[in-house]
Amino acid sequence: MIGELHQLRQLCWVLGSIGRILAIAYTRVAVLSETKLHIDGKAIAQQIQAEIAQKIAEYRSQVNQVPGLAVIMVGDNPASSAYVRNKETACRRVGMQSFGSHLPSSTQQAELESLIDQLNHNDQVHGILVQLPLPSHLDAIPLLHRIHPDKDADGLHPNNLGKLLRGEQGLRSCTPAGVMKLLEHTNIDLAGKHAVVVGRSILVGKPLALMLLAANATVTIAHSRTPDLASITRQADILIAAVGKPEMIKAEMVKFGAVVIDVGINRITDYEGNSRLVGDVDFEQVAPVASHITPVPGGVGPMTVTMLLHNTLWSFCQKYGLT
Ligand code: NDP
Repeated sequence: MIGELHQLRQLCWVLGSIGRILAIAYTRVAVLSETKLHIDGKAIAQQIQAEIAQKIAEYRSQVNQVPGLAVIMVGDNPASSAYVRNKETACRRVGMQSFGSHLPSSTQQAELESLIDQLNHNDQVHGILVQLPLPSHLDAIPLLHRIHPDKDADGLHPNNLGKLLRGEQGLRSCTPAGVMKLLEHTNIDLAGKHAVVVGRSILVGKPLALMLLAANATVTIAHSRTPDLASITRQADILIAAVGKPEMIKAEMVKFGAVVIDVGINRITDYEGNSRLVGDVDFEQVAPVASHITPVPGGVGPMTVTMLLHNTLWSFCQKYGLT
């Protein structure tokens, strides 16, 4: 009896060793074939933008009109200025008209309301976006609600969020829609997969959870009050981090072979005093464990701008009955 137990223990040890060797080998292969695992948001965004540009050129000859996007920015927040510049440059690159309104931080709520009313009635404008955050004396919510739902380029109007909830066609929030496009372009089948979204903001987490649900994933949403977060994230076939905490998702929180999408954009100063952008996922640690992973920068970020162009084009097509 004792001899049999000893043999069983030896067998377990041998099997455990083989498992460990295989895991190390897989990790090495994963590291060696790193470029295959990375989801290149920049390249996918360029491809979609080229398709958008081609459609705009075709539609111009059909209806003698191009889509127009109006970006409203108040104040001089450096991060917002960079995002707005990026959006306006992308607009021009694909042949859209860009109507930038860059207003001083002293701008009052009533002035913004009347600007939105004008843009709602401007036939050349098909998409309107208010760059957030706004200075603290302004209330963003009534302004977002004032944008005509058909011109709601950011997909944040209650009508469009309601359509998402009901599964009806409509304008979708750009960042979550960008994540869905990345998954689609990477041929990740979501049906029946367990997707865990960390973060429940109205901008990212909540709409993304609904989009994943519509794609037949089984969805869990985690947030700051979720106890033992790692035990939830480790169950994810698709793990999406939209938290705003630099590199908080570590390797031990990720299931081997999971698809990891990092929405976070955090500016940090590293130990050498250099400022750089990092995501919510510890990329160096997690990349060897994941089957696919998005980098920061160059992952979700370029898709957000692309979906803004996509939404403006979609509104334009709806207006002119173009397909
Ligand atoms: P919010 O601050 O609005 O939401 C953060 C969410 O994370 C909240 O739901 C919060 O939970 C949750 N959270 C905070 N701490 C923890 C924690 N320790 N454990 C689990 N959950 C936690 O951020 P956003 O959704 O607007 O943005 C998230 C990140 O994505 C940011 O880094 C932002 O810069 C980035 N971003 C990137 C975009 C892109 O284009 N790539 C576009 C938009 C955002 P609770 O609700 O309980 O407070």
